[in-house]
Amino acid sequence: MSTLAEAIEAIRRIRPRRVVVFTGAGVSAESGIPTFRGAGGLWRDFRAEDLATPDAFARDPLLVWQWYEWRRTLIRDAQPNAAHRAVARLPDAVVVTQNVDGLHARGGARDVIELHGSIVRVRCVRCGREREAFEAFESLPPHCECGALLRPGVVWFGEMLPPYALERAAEEIRNADLLLVIGTSGVVQPAAGLVALHRRLSIEINPEASALSSACTLAIPATAAEATPAIVDAILEGRDA
Ligand code: NAD
Ligand code: ZN
Repeated sequence: MSTLAEAIEAIRRIRPRRVVVFTGAGVSAESGIPTFRGAGGLWRDFRAEDLATPDAFARDPLLVWQWYEWRRTLIRDAQPNAAHRAVARLPDAVVVTQNVDGLHARGGARDVIELHGSIVRVRCVRCGREREAFEAFESLPPHCECGALLRPGVVWFGEMLPPYALERAAEEIRNADLLLVIGTSGVVQPAAGLVALHRRLSIEINPEASALSSACTLAIPATAAEATPAIVDAILEGRDA
């Protein structure tokens, strides 16, 4: 474990220009959106790993959609928190997120790679047509004009990530001077494996130790909203000098 002061010192030393911010569910916890792992991660006694899968959807699309509508409502009513807003103050940072909540973009981030898609998009399981769907559906499960089921526009456990997003994320992380790793348990692959591509300064922000803590240069035991604003200040301060 490291202190915030040590992290700020390390940032001042290297004056990073290329910054990548890699985030997971923890960055949105302080916006009131439950993480999958940890307190508050359950919905009606189901684990996320048993609902966010192609098999679960094939078996019981209504149940899966009820869970997504619950999450979509939470997300619609949520606001970006101090961590999302701080990240957005970095003018040319690339945000690589595992989140599907769209809060980085709503917080003002310009360049967001959504590795796991978006919960405000839907896609037809038959004709593949995709569209935005921010508001709640009148009846569940929702259907396409073609008559087939719509599914959430997210990547489920066991599915491939969009290849372009994964390739670009790898490229940006490999070339970054500084990698911030915020609020991820680091157990969902292949996303978590991206961190190993980075060889320079990496700083994790997570109140708990994660599977990525030891791979990062420094690990700050604090919440995203507590630590991220000061880290961003240190990055920007180096640029004025
Ligand atoms: P995870 O649920 O596995 O882990 C959450 C991590 O966040 C934990 O390590 C926890 O210690 C940490 N954390 C909790 N509160 C925090 C805080 N205030 N500040 C910083 N860190 C905090 O999440 P994951 O690693 O992102 O993997 C789960 C998968 O679930 C992802 O693929 C993601 O797509 C999906 N998911 C997304 C959302 C969302 O979009 N908001 C929410 C839940 C899950
Ligand atoms: Zn269709």
